[in-house]
Amino acid sequence: MTWPATARYELESAPGGLGLVQDLLNTVAAGAPRQADLLSDLAAAQAWVDDATAQWSAVTGQPVPQVALDADGLDELRAFRDELHRLTTQAREDVPETESAVPVLHSATAALQLGEDGLVRLESRGTGWRRLASLVLVAAFEGQRADTRRRLKTCRNPRCRAAFYDRSRNNSGVWHDVKTCGNAANLRAYRARQRVQNA
Ligand SMILES: [Zn+2]
Repeated sequence: MTWPATARYELESAPGGLGLVQDLLNTVAAGAPRQADLLSDLAAAQAWVDDATAQWSAVTGQPVPQVALDADGLDELRAFRDELHRLTTQAREDVPETESAVPVLHSATAALQLGEDGLVRLESRGTGWRRLASLVLVAAFEGQRADTRRRLKTCRNPRCRAAFYDRSRNNSGVWHDVKTCGNAANLRAYRARQRVQNA
């Protein structure tokens, strides 16, 4: 099994539950040639949710969460995804972490649980799209704690926008694929410089 949306772009997936955050980002219409928006209608979105939650269960060892979308929930989920995409794209500009109050865009419910093994876990809560938002935000939070979330990026090529996991040693990657998106961008920049010189 693979992450259904991320697999469309033949990308390596982010580790563990962070793969769910990446997969939600990759439901957008992205890539070249352009892939479909997997949240464009309820049937497609529910199919994505079913596959993505099954994959989440496979990588985390947790039971498959039951998430049933309705039309209103799909609108909310799409808005949540688009904001997460925008913020992931902005993050490459390295917003400094601040202690002062930051406006809240979304909130989801989760429960802190003390297990018999002595470990504390954060468990997603809620129903419908809220359950999915909770799963995604728990995974993003765990990624922040593990310092893996900052490696989850969107491709700098505006025609692409695929969400990739940067495994480079110094976290310097900006293209989902240097050969396709990086070289195309370099070529465009080269041609632009030529036009300026020849003008
Ligand atoms: Zn790309």
